[in-house]
Amino acid sequence: MIKNGATFLFNTKVVDFNIKNNKIISLLLKKVNINNSEIEEMKSDFVILAIGHSSRDTFEKLYTKNFVIKPKNFSVGVRIEHLQSWINEAQYGKNPNLKLPPAEYKLAYHSNTGRSCYTFCMCPGGVVIASSSEKNTIVTNGMSNFSRNNINSNSAVLVNVTPEDFNSDSPLGGMYFQKNLEEKAFSLGGNNYNAPVQRFEDFIKNQKSEFIGLVKPSYLPNITLSNLNEILPDFISDTLKEGILYFGQKLKNFSHPDSILTGLETRSSSPIQILRNEQLFSNIQGVYPCGEGAGYAGGIMSAAVDGIKCAISILETI
Ligand SMILES: Cc1cc2nc3c(=O)[nH]c(=O)nc-3n(C[C@H](O)[C@H](O)[C@H](O)COP(=O)(O)OP(=O)(O)OC[C@H]3O[C@@H](n4cnc5c(N)ncnc54)[C@H](O)[C@@H]3O)c2cc1C
Repeated sequence: MIKNGATFLFNTKVVDFNIKNNKIISLLLKKVNINNSEIEEMKSDFVILAIGHSSRDTFEKLYTKNFVIKPKNFSVGVRIEHLQSWINEAQYGKNPNLKLPPAEYKLAYHSNTGRSCYTFCMCPGGVVIASSSEKNTIVTNGMSNFSRNNINSNSAVLVNVTPEDFNSDSPLGGMYFQKNLEEKAFSLGGNNYNAPVQRFEDFIKNQKSEFIGLVKPSYLPNITLSNLNEILPDFISDTLKEGILYFGQKLKNFSHPDSILTGLETRSSSPIQILRNEQLFSNIQGVYPCGEGAGYAGGIMSAAVDGIKCAISILETI
């Protein structure tokens, strides 16, 4: 890209959008690694806005600049950890003759309340990862290293939430709903970036965990034994309980009493969609909302493909 004339501006943030007659004129940029850095203007007729799903101050800026934004469904839940050996045995049986890779799973449950519970981003032999992007919040995610050889496996266990759950008229209501839960998780963890953690048996019994059993939580920097029911809306904790018990019938030991829940997983996908037309630009001409944050992708591959689609659309215009 550099050979073909591209320039990368690291440590540089888009802080404002200069719009005239409903058309983008320029972006205002600020260096984030320099105190009181001057605002620079970058003129452009085309802007691909691929800002991810956690750029909350930029979402607020876009809203004040009259971009058409809609709240959208997403999911909230916890990370669940098991011993990888339990998952291997459940999927492959005891002592399989073949040399098989660490086993995976994908599970879904539909409650008669209309909610669904499902596993997402299963990480065989992986770890639970701290993923908050703001001060005083806790957000979980998960990853496996190439070798997938850690003792635990983990996945998100999520329940769908809809704009009706946000109690807000703002299109950014889902974002504030997420943030509120992330702050509650921070507080339950002890206000020190420890994640709140609970054994599954204690979650079912609605009691704070007092000890860790066979599964040791992998979250760093540390964990605080907690009762996650205290911070989750009832419809989420009730559906998680039903779902995890159901998954235990499908996959041996999934609902083991010592399974570890770490909270909270709130960023499974964007809480908003920035509307765009068939040529992929927004109500502000020249601005192409793109990727996961704009509500058009979920994951690395679909976000990358959406970037290619936006680039092709611009090439067809010029
Ligand atoms: C721990 C972890 C593990 C994951 N594992 C997987 C996986 O295995 N497979 C998978 O498919 N997905 C995975 N994901 C999800 C994946 O990372 C995202 O779906 C994907 O990165 C979305 O791509 P994107 O380009 O839309 O946004 P992002 O990758 O979030 O990129 C957005 C960029 O915009 C920048 N930005 C935001 N606002 C501004 C601004 N105002 N000015 C300048 N820059 C700005 C951000 O700093 C960021 O660099 C994982 C995520 C995490 C956190």
